[in-house]
Amino acid sequence: MAYRLNITFESFGLAEPILRAVTELGYREPTPIQAQAIPIVLQGRDVMGAAQTGTGKTAGFALPILERLMPLANTSASPARHPVRALILAPTRELADQIYENVRQYAQHTGLRAAVVFGGVDIKPQIAALRQGCEVLIATPGRLLDHLGQRTVSLAQAKMLVLDEADRMLDMGFLPDIQRILQELPAERQNLMFSATFSTEIRKLAAGFLNDPVLIEVARRNAAAENVEQRIYQVSGLDDKRAAVAQLVRERGLPQVIVFTNTKIGAGRLARELERDGLNAAAIHGDKSQQERLTTLEAFKKGETVVLVATDVAARGLDIAELPAVINYDLPYNAEDYVHRIGRTGRAGASGLAISLMTATDERYLADIEKLLGRKLPCEPLEVRASARRHERSRDGVRSERHARSARSAPSGAGSTRARAPSSLAGYSDDPFFSQPYVPAAPVADDPAAATAAGPTAASARASRRARRPVAALLRAAPGR
Ligand code: AMP
Repeated sequence: MAYRLNITFESFGLAEPILRAVTELGYREPTPIQAQAIPIVLQGRDVMGAAQTGTGKTAGFALPILERLMPLANTSASPARHPVRALILAPTRELADQIYENVRQYAQHTGLRAAVVFGGVDIKPQIAALRQGCEVLIATPGRLLDHLGQRTVSLAQAKMLVLDEADRMLDMGFLPDIQRILQELPAERQNLMFSATFSTEIRKLAAGFLNDPVLIEVARRNAAAENVEQRIYQVSGLDDKRAAVAQLVRERGLPQVIVFTNTKIGAGRLARELERDGLNAAAIHGDKSQQERLTTLEAFKKGETVVLVATDVAARGLDIAELPAVINYDLPYNAEDYVHRIGRTGRAGASGLAISLMTATDERYLADIEKLLGRKLPCEPLEVRASARRHERSRDGVRSERHARSARSAPSGAGSTRARAPSSLAGYSDDPFFSQPYVPAAPVADDPAAATAAGPTAASARASRRARRPVAALLRAAPGR
């Protein structure tokens, strides 16, 4: 992929072992964020970066960090010779794991070591890894505090700190944890903070710990990736949506696709139905255990799974290299999620395809998205082959009959008085649980291990209370319907 910046990785003066790793990874030239961030981080300056995952941001901070640590690289087996010198904090285990994988690859020829700790998994292997020593530690805040509490890690020599996806950290209630971690670090250090958005809270946090930062901005917050082709297809109902997904994957020969649904239940159900329809599909959402999620993700990354059905919270921040397409089975209730979703494809300069399936009652969500993007997205009808629908009914007569019954009894989208009712759930409206709204910033609801990662702190308790509120409201509303 070409960014036409006429800047090369060599021009940064990076050490040969780092350049070799970058070449082996196939990076030909720096992305815009890398071109801006690498020289500044090399100078030792603090940075406030407005960049989303998918822009090449990880190498933007990791390569210069490794370069600055090169004089300290050594081949000694003694853990004492490998103290933590750079700490990278990330909001979720998936992001932490991804950053770790990248850093491990960038550092592979340097003699510098990396380790990752996150919640939701056994702490013992992490303790064993920390005992070996690591110059770069990647962590979610809660689990890091657990390790600090047990004295299985020391940050006394960590003179570089990265706060990645800072806006999500605040959304997830990690602020008190971050403040406690800051107290464990030497006062004199280099600080880098990255965030997709810059709210007043983020600026306040930045003012509290960044020292005369250089502001780096590569893409506006709501700028949808320009290299992503966006298509909106109108279909007539829930059954057509399912058939349309299978038809699009087959007809367009999509080797891999992430399909977004608005609910965890919807994700699991759709994956099962696509499996029955002969596609290799799996679901990833917060009701799955940590191990199941990692295994599912791994299988998808290896190309063993063709369709990954995901909820927003489970999918946000996932970096799946060269993903050719995403499909919005449900249009998101929150227009910003549309931008996050389509950002899963067309990463780091590659082209991508984002297809959204829309029924008549989704129109208001499309209007919100168009308002956010500042332009109209052309809609076209999609002819769903009758054979695809018949095929599905004949295979699962009982379920189809139940859908037909509940669809008859469900209120029509236009006449419904429920504000922002998820139209795609019409077939499940006989059970109030299925109408549970999507809660955009509720990691504890959709990410149980984030709660584990956070540990029994006031922050996680608050986040958990926040996450439960909308469900309670719905259950109260249900008898009246
Ligand atoms: P990130 O935003 O750091 O998650 O990076 C997104 C993806 O872009 C990852 O798969 C990286 O491996 C890839 N990437 C990062 N920098 C480059 C580059 N200069 N050239 C090509 N791919 C890159």
